[in-house]
Amino acid sequence: MHINQLKIQLQRHQKQLEECTLCPQMFGPPIHGLAVESKVILIGQAPGFKEIEVLRPFAWTAGKKLFSWFEDIGMNENQFRKSIYMSAICRCYPGKKIVSTKTEHAKKKKAHGDRVPDKNEIKQCSQWLHSEIELLKPELLILVGKLAINQFMPVKKLDEVIGQVHHININNHQCDAIPLPHPSGASTWPLTEPGKTLLKQAMALINKHPSWKNLK
Ligand code: SF4
Repeated sequence: MHINQLKIQLQRHQKQLEECTLCPQMFGPPIHGLAVESKVILIGQAPGFKEIEVLRPFAWTAGKKLFSWFEDIGMNENQFRKSIYMSAICRCYPGKKIVSTKTEHAKKKKAHGDRVPDKNEIKQCSQWLHSEIELLKPELLILVGKLAINQFMPVKKLDEVIGQVHHININNHQCDAIPLPHPSGASTWPLTEPGKTLLKQAMALINKHPSWKNLK
C-alpha cells in the first residue's frame, strides 16, 4: 500500500475508533496514539483515568517509566510517539476495581486500583487491534503487561516469556513479539531479580531487532 494511502486509512480507522461505545462499563473516549505508518506496534493493556483526560496513551506515571526504558536504548518519548504505532488491548478506561473489605465497617466497599477489562470487553475491542495489524502488517509487536502478553501467548509467570523473542502468527500474519512487564509502580517484578535482568535482555532484543533499527 502506498504510504500516504496507508496514513489516510489509519486516520480513518482512528476516527471510527473514537466513536466506539460498545462497552457500557468502560469510560471513553477511546484513546490512541498517532497515525504512524510503522512496522513496530506497542500494545498496552488499557488507558488509565489520566490518559482519558489528556487523550494520549501512556501519558502519566507508567508512561514515564516505560519511556525511560526506551530512552535507555536510544529513543526518547517524542521520537517513540512519532515512530511507533501505539495500540492497546482495550482503548477505554475500565474504571476502579471495587474490593469488599472486612474491617470494623464490614462489607464496606473500597476502590482499589483499576478494574481488569472482562473477556467480552477484550473480545469487542480486539477488532480495532486486528484492523491495525491488518493495515500495518507489523514485523514486531512490543507487548506491555501480562494482559497484553496473554492475548498472544499463554503466560503464567512473566519470567517464562520476558527476555525472549517469540515468533507468532496472527490471522496468517507472521511477526515477532517481545513482551515487557507493565511499568506501573504497582509491579515490583522489574525491580527485583530475575525481572531486572530479563527486562534488560528484552530491551536489548528490541534494540537489535531489524524493524527497530529501521526506525532510526
Ligand atoms: S473498550 Fe474498545 S470496544 Fe469497548 S467501547 Fe472502548 S473502544 Fe469500544
